[in-house]
Amino acid sequence: MFVDYHTHHERCGHAEGTLEQYIQKGIEIGLEQIGLSDHMPLLHVDPANYYPEMAMSFEDLPYYVEECLQLKEKYAKQIDIKVGLEADYIEGYEEQISAIIQQYPWDYVIGSVHFIGEWDITDYRQTHEWNGKNIDSIYETYYKLLQQAAATEMYDIIGHFDVIKRFGYKPEMDTKELENQTLHVVKKHDIALECNTSGLRMPAKEMFPSERILRYASQLGIPITLSSDAHKPNQLAYALKDAQKLLKTAGFQQIATFQARKRILSDFNCEQ
Ligand SMILES: [Zn+2]
Ligand SMILES: [Zn+2]
Repeated sequence: MFVDYHTHHERCGHAEGTLEQYIQKGIEIGLEQIGLSDHMPLLHVDPANYYPEMAMSFEDLPYYVEECLQLKEKYAKQIDIKVGLEADYIEGYEEQISAIIQQYPWDYVIGSVHFIGEWDITDYRQTHEWNGKNIDSIYETYYKLLQQAAATEMYDIIGHFDVIKRFGYKPEMDTKELENQTLHVVKKHDIALECNTSGLRMPAKEMFPSERILRYASQLGIPITLSSDAHKPNQLAYALKDAQKLLKTAGFQQIATFQARKRILSDFNCEQ
């Protein structure tokens, strides 16, 4: 299966390219499925008083879904388009998030923790927030939020599982127990992970999640899908061949895909 389940386009303000440009790129490189998964509008911070270009506006959300559905039909003979959303998990906003998820006919929803309170830990403009904080306790908070996200059972896929390592701030403690505990919660609530190659483009210089985490996830029988987290059309399917190899090494034999929020497992063929 040659699929990419995590892409962003120009509506969010920090990505480039239209949805249609992504789809045409996907056809050009021979993707079997392309997942459109733009960022959910900001819920808990006032966009007017916050960092610009974080996510599409609430007014834009129905147009996003409409455009995805139209393209799905238009290109049905050439590529299987999946309509998705990367929906932040925000502690205390579970009902509002659930309402957004239930409002539209998604094929899948990615649950990601980007925010610790009002701090977006994935935003390069906010890395000063690490200064003077205890890195171990930031890791603990992050994984606690990720566990809460999984426990809501609102999501089909947990996004970039260990994205907290993105900017290369190293904890003093061994985070293995914290990661494993979180994987058990993901397993208990029957959610898939993604092997997200975007970490290779960042200071972390490895995939999300790490090989160690992938090995343990495969032992637990957690399903997995593939994603680039592309923010430009030419990042589509970035390093997915390497990701496929890594998944095979880590013991995975199947790839998860999604249709109308049903998970489908297909045998993993490294040759694609
Ligand atoms: Zn983004
Ligand atoms: Zn994300």
